Amino acid sequence: MNYQGGCFCGKVRYAFEAGDIPCADCHCTMCRRTSGAPYVSWLVVPDKAFSYTGDAPKQLQSSDDGTRFFCGDCGTPVACTNKSHPEIVDVTLGSMDRPESFTPTFTVFEDTKLPFVVTHALNKD
Ligand SMILES: [Zn+2]
Ligand SMILES: [Zn+2]
Repeated sequence: MNYQGGCFCGKVRYAFEAGDIPCADCHCTMCRRTSGAPYVSWLVVPDKAFSYTGDAPKQLQSSDDGTRFFCGDCGTPVACTNKSHPEIVDVTLGSMDRPESFTPTFTVFEDTKLPFVVTHALNKD
């Protein structure tokens, strides 16, 4: 399947071609701050399958290993990479043209999940 997405203003665009793509809800405090949302749903996309098709995003090194990519004009977070697993690009589900194509099936950093968030992911207790 070929998937596409991009930022709110449309300058940053991306595409990836892939089969089975894991999707996770991340409740870490860095995702919360950089998105302004309670948590962020991420697609785990092979780096080889992913490419930017519009303007290049801006970059923010958000931790020793992590770099976040976002539109320099409208601010939409689109992707994140981590030196510990360079073969992967994490892509924000919310920036997809068709986010309904995926369903998060696990959560990460549940220890910092906000109390009001009711998770539907499979690994919930
Ligand atoms: Zn934009
Ligand atoms: Zn996170």
